[in-house]
Amino acid sequence: MSRAAIRVVVDPTACDGYGTCAELLPEWIEADEWGFPVVRREALPAHLADHAERAVHACPRMAIRTVRARD
Ligand code: SF4
Repeated sequence: MSRAAIRVVVDPTACDGYGTCAELLPEWIEADEWGFPVVRREALPAHLADHAERAVHACPRMAIRTVRARD
């Protein structure tokens, strides 16, 4: 059974720019010059879903999450 398409979103008010998420999911998240994440907006490819979940769980501020992608 395939997983539903997901997107990665960051709450900029909670993020402290530690950069952990960009280290764990570099294919999808870049750190800007201050270390804050710049996340691609499109649906995440299925092969990166586990890496995205790891980034979510590693965030020290609980500022990143995955949401269902809309069509
Ligand atoms: S791991 Fe969390 S606090 Fe750190 S840059 Fe990513 S979203 Fe922000």
